[in-house]
Amino acid sequence: KYPLSRFGTKFTSPSGISGLMKDMGEALQTDEKVYMLGGGNPAHIPEVNALWRERMEHILSNGSEYERMVANYDTPQGKESFLKALSGMLNREYGWKIGPENIAITNGSQSAFFCLLNMFGGTDESGKMRKILFPLLPEYIGYADQAIEEGIFTARKPRIEELPGNRFKYHPDLDNLEIGPDIGAVCVSRPTNPTGNVITDQELAVLSERTAEKGIPLIVDNAYGAPFPNIIFTDANLIWDEHIILSMSLSKIGLPASRTGIIVASAEIIEALSGVNAILSLANSSIGQVITAPLLENGELLRLSSEVVRPFYLKKSRETMKLMDEAFAGLPYSIHVSEGSIFLWLWFKDLPVSSIELYRRLKKRNVLVIPGSYFFFGNDDPWPHRDQCLRVSYAQNSEDVRRGIEIMAEELRLIYGI
Ligand code: PLP
Repeated sequence: KYPLSRFGTKFTSPSGISGLMKDMGEALQTDEKVYMLGGGNPAHIPEVNALWRERMEHILSNGSEYERMVANYDTPQGKESFLKALSGMLNREYGWKIGPENIAITNGSQSAFFCLLNMFGGTDESGKMRKILFPLLPEYIGYADQAIEEGIFTARKPRIEELPGNRFKYHPDLDNLEIGPDIGAVCVSRPTNPTGNVITDQELAVLSERTAEKGIPLIVDNAYGAPFPNIIFTDANLIWDEHIILSMSLSKIGLPASRTGIIVASAEIIEALSGVNAILSLANSSIGQVITAPLLENGELLRLSSEVVRPFYLKKSRETMKLMDEAFAGLPYSIHVSEGSIFLWLWFKDLPVSSIELYRRLKKRNVLVIPGSYFFFGNDDPWPHRDQCLRVSYAQNSEDVRRGIEIMAEELRLIYGI
């Protein structure tokens, strides 16, 4: 009805993930049982929820702590007590030498990415277009629609390593990865949403070295990584350096509603990001910071991550892959090695229909997954693989996951005629 700006038009366009979310929401408007293997909500783990409840009860009964938490604006950078607790913990764990000046809080890491991707990607003062390079597709769908300007994302296809037993692993094609003068930052999620891939220490070291050489930041999205939530099943090491922007979050350990994103970066970048955050959000939500600050100091958050959260997801990942191997036997399927995150990534070779058509057919049977093609943004190379994959969340209850996989197998047998 009303004329919109370019920004307005781009951000209200029904294409991409917003259309998909709407479509999935509509699928839920039924009384029938729906198998939700699509979304990225973390599981409700009783021991984890019990700790949040205990902390809230303590806050409520601890003098005016509750009122201070809800009745004061936080600063745009985050709460001093949380910044100190977190920098202290990271220094103890990893031998870094960072301080509160190296950390900024945002209302979820999603909004940190909106700021960062548009700070380093887009037209610069001299009129030159600077791009964000994603060195390893497929990559997190949540970045795909975040650019304010058109055409600022550029992404590279992976090298595929096929492994025995219907498994595969993506690698960044580092031999052919050129970081041209138009690149403003390089960005990678590790563990990767959607694949569960964890790029190796060596691969990360090469990306770090090359970005440092070019004088641009390397953004590493550690939403699933160590030290919390620690949904990572390889021995990968966490690294930080002056040019690395490390993103973390309280969401996947079980506090997604607290909207607490955490950025660790040089003091210069933190100051800039806090300035953008102040314009965008004024201040941050304090709740996640207040709940977790003492748990960072006493080691409880790390204990919970390693002793409860990680084993919970590792077990579910293994069980789900076993169910898939049984249900998909005889089909031309392959599962990306599960090295972290809460998803499994499936590749159906020579799939006779598109991944969106497969999604639609499964939706008709009340199984919700995410079509793989959405995760291949920033690259238009024709490539059948990009249309042969699906992302499946294994965080939901085991019975739903099992039944959802059985229905997937039935539908795939019809599609392949096997
Ligand atoms: N990065 C990755 C890789 C994610 O999977 C998600 C959420 O699914 C986010 C960032 C954003 O999380 P939040 O805004 O809840 O911190």
